[in-house]
Amino acid sequence: MSNPANRSSEPKVLISAEKLDERIAEIASEIQNDYQGREIVAICVLKGSFIFFSDVLRKLDLPIHCEFLGVSSYGDKKVSSGEVKVTLDINEPLENKHVILFEDIVDSGLTLSYILANLRARRPASLKTCALLMKPESMRVEVPVEYVGFKIGPEFVIGYGMDYAGKYRGLPYIGYLEPEH
Ligand code: 5GP
Repeated sequence: MSNPANRSSEPKVLISAEKLDERIAEIASEIQNDYQGREIVAICVLKGSFIFFSDVLRKLDLPIHCEFLGVSSYGDKKVSSGEVKVTLDINEPLENKHVILFEDIVDSGLTLSYILANLRARRPASLKTCALLMKPESMRVEVPVEYVGFKIGPEFVIGYGMDYAGKYRGLPYIGYLEPEH
């Protein structure tokens, strides 16, 4: 991901609230069709996914157990090291359950790859990932993502749950910060 330091504080819109609404409805309808008649465990990866997670869930008419997984990367904050620390674990056993993991953004793929290995070890009946954003140019590991909201460039993004230095999570759109001149 590119370095967001020294950026102006007024974000520019990359994906509008209207486009987010439309795409969330499409993703929810795909999930609804794929999981018809099944109970699912939906896992929200904190913190960046919390708005995406709740928007998709409110559009699903399925029996759902909600779980929250807190993770943080060790080391350099700007580039994922792939070494992930679980800061909040889920409460529910996953054995024989149908699990969908909700991620805000897949950048190098290292965080997701770690989380999936961790969850697979709990022997779910099935495990799929739903990511709001993917940065294909930044991917360093092959990692399966069954539901993808938008593919974007390597630019650092904020809003709709995602932060920069703890700010901007409440923006209703996905934005980016332009370099200051
Ligand atoms: P990865 O391990 O795939 O490189 O990094 C994934 C995590 O890095 C995401 O879950 C997110 O927390 C953070 N991240 C990656 N790119 C961005 C970005 O453009 N904006 C924000 N706010 N976080 C990002």
